Amino acid sequence: MSSLPAQPSPLRTISAHAALDRDGQLEPWSFELRDLRPGDVAYDVLYAGICHTDLHMVGPWGRHFPMVPGHEIVGRVTEVGSAVTGFAPGDVVAVGTMVDSCRECAPCVAGMESYCEQGPTTTYDGLDRVDGSVTRGGFARSGICDERFAHHVPDGLDLAGAAPLLCAGITCYSPLRHWKVGPGTRVGVVGIGGLGHLGLKLARALGAEVTAFTSSPEKVDGALALGAHDVVLTRDEEQLAAKANTYDFILDTVSTTHPLTPIMSTLKLDGTLCSLGIPDHFDVAPMSLAMARRSIASSGSGGTRETAEMLAFCAEHGITADVEVVKPEEINEAMARLAANDVAYRFVIDMRAGD
Ligand SMILES: [Zn+2]
Ligand SMILES: [Zn+2]
Repeated sequence: MSSLPAQPSPLRTISAHAALDRDGQLEPWSFELRDLRPGDVAYDVLYAGICHTDLHMVGPWGRHFPMVPGHEIVGRVTEVGSAVTGFAPGDVVAVGTMVDSCRECAPCVAGMESYCEQGPTTTYDGLDRVDGSVTRGGFARSGICDERFAHHVPDGLDLAGAAPLLCAGITCYSPLRHWKVGPGTRVGVVGIGGLGHLGLKLARALGAEVTAFTSSPEKVDGALALGAHDVVLTRDEEQLAAKANTYDFILDTVSTTHPLTPIMSTLKLDGTLCSLGIPDHFDVAPMSLAMARRSIASSGSGGTRETAEMLAFCAEHGITADVEVVKPEEINEAMARLAANDVAYRFVIDMRAGD
């Protein structure tokens, strides 16, 4: 074979669903996929999870419209750049919340790019660090990503259920690992939704004794089925009092401000509550912290190193999200139901459906 000069790949028009403005509705739209760079992996999207962040982004948080959301992506590699060593066409690939970072600051060097001091480039509605173009997410037929931010999906994981691991999964796994949850620790998970149901499964698989906290009596059976050892109803003062000074760590996934003081009292001396839901503010009596040197903390997502570790852990323990798979044309209905918490426990779009 003669060696041909490298040809830039032709621009490809990609069909997608996009928010054209902040009205929150997604509509069929198309965009040109940028050229493949030497370090890039191009892929066709198989599944894209719908995250709560997407609801905010197609509304008040969004910056660049039209916007193609989606940062829980599982795809199949179609093409790789000349410098790519870890992927080949045909591989299953997963992409999460970021597609680039400065790669030089201390968090980046440590593989914790989600804490890049310059801010990571988000998978969608971000600005490409090379050409300044707007990044596009997984509600599209195809995507492109530097291989550093692309992950292999271990064999054996259901691909639709694996997609939410890329945001919801790693967002729970990272703090559980940071606060050293494992055998001998008692953990509470507050809120049993997209994040919380994975938090329960992961904490249980890490070896902890796990309690689900929910305000909804109708969620008790589901929480037990997910692996909770027991369930506390947060509106039941007696149940909360019975758990005083019990937990080493609490993962709070609730995104609205809710009374934390009664929940803090269930932490042991030096216990930590990590809030993942980013509520407007914390409704907590400082005395409830002082009483047992308790901490309130928060956590972002995880970096590339921990995401790879999380995917391997999930494969080892057979953990995926419980998902309801929808077609691309059902995105708006799914987004509305997600806003109403009407899903057990995550929507995933089959991006190939409707061909
Ligand atoms: Zn997300
Ligand atoms: Zn950095």
